[in-house]
Amino acid sequence: MEKIGRLLAQRRQDGLMRTVHTIEERTAGVITIAGRRYLDFSSNDYLGLAEHPNLAAAGRDAILRWGTGAGASRLLSGSQTLHRAVEEAAAVFKGKERALVYNSGYQANLGIISALCGKQDVIFADRLAHASLLDGAQLSGARLIRFAHNDPEHLRRLLARERGNYRDALIVTESVFSMDGDCAPLAELVLLKQEYDCSLLVDEAHATGLFGARGSGLAEQAGATAGADMLMGTFSKALGSFGAYCAADQAIIEYLRNFSRAFIYSTALPPAVIAANLAALEVVAAEPERRRVLQENSDFFRVELIRRGYAVRGSTQIVPLIVGENERAVRSAQALQEKGYWVVPIRYPSVPRQEARLRFSLTYHHCRAQLQKLVEDIDAVLAV
Ligand SMILES: *Cc1c(COP(=O)(O)O)cnc(C)c1O
Repeated sequence: MEKIGRLLAQRRQDGLMRTVHTIEERTAGVITIAGRRYLDFSSNDYLGLAEHPNLAAAGRDAILRWGTGAGASRLLSGSQTLHRAVEEAAAVFKGKERALVYNSGYQANLGIISALCGKQDVIFADRLAHASLLDGAQLSGARLIRFAHNDPEHLRRLLARERGNYRDALIVTESVFSMDGDCAPLAELVLLKQEYDCSLLVDEAHATGLFGARGSGLAEQAGATAGADMLMGTFSKALGSFGAYCAADQAIIEYLRNFSRAFIYSTALPPAVIAANLAALEVVAAEPERRRVLQENSDFFRVELIRRGYAVRGSTQIVPLIVGENERAVRSAQALQEKGYWVVPIRYPSVPRQEARLRFSLTYHHCRAQLQKLVEDIDAVLAV
């Protein structure tokens, strides 16, 4: 295929070639790449649970009892007691009647949206919604309409304009946005979905384990649990493991079990992963100080940067520092890497032109002293 060489050459020329680094070691927020140690600001293991002894023990015990592979799709080999238990726990955690586990967040969004929507339907998606939500919309064949980021008034105008032009409508948003670290106006979206008689799917990938009194997510904190029809959450970020789920009422879950191809046609997650997921839910309940410390540290870091005049967005553990041009983002990330921080530049086309940024992903492993030092090093790098 002629295009393969051509498109790769173009990528290289634009300086946008993606590379995958080999991590030789990862412990307590420090990663080793090519023999060099870095303080890691790229990980979504927000609560540090990927190294929690309870998750490791649960995974090991499950392998010894059940073996390494699940053997088949859930519909063929049946649910192991573990799968059933994690779905019950996830439903309780999210405050919904039932939950259905998917093999990843990406698969969940593809599977949920393509099962729920079809050609006669419309999907209203926040302009910054994650690729998996957009891919799910495309796979469904529904008409996709984007609304301005976190702008319920714009969504309202679109809903009013389109009223009557579709069979069903689905509103789709992330709750905490992965590249901006800000929060969707969930309460307002719930009001709109009620007023215009649509459904609402909330992707809690970056909020699960972190927000709300029980740490279940932003829907809990915003009082939007009942109002959101489907809450998608992942085990792969703050929960330190892998996999995802949709939490919803019984009818929706029954429907997805029957019509969601991403669930039906894929082998179930391995027992060790499911057991670790269950253990992670228990740790979130038992160790609320992890999310409290993380939020305090995130506030500290963000306020320190703002105080020094930097263009920082959001209000969560994701702290994006906008630097402008792609070039500048690459150069400053390199300079910070030389100082021992693993920080990655986020560039166009992942974010709009002129909004290239350094994305600091804070975790429970980072302490105040490290963040204070990082602020000073950012100053040294960006002030020149
Ligand atoms: C990471 C992410 C996903 C995908 O989840 P995986 O479990 O990594 O496949 C989905 N939605 C959002 C918003 C994400 O950030």
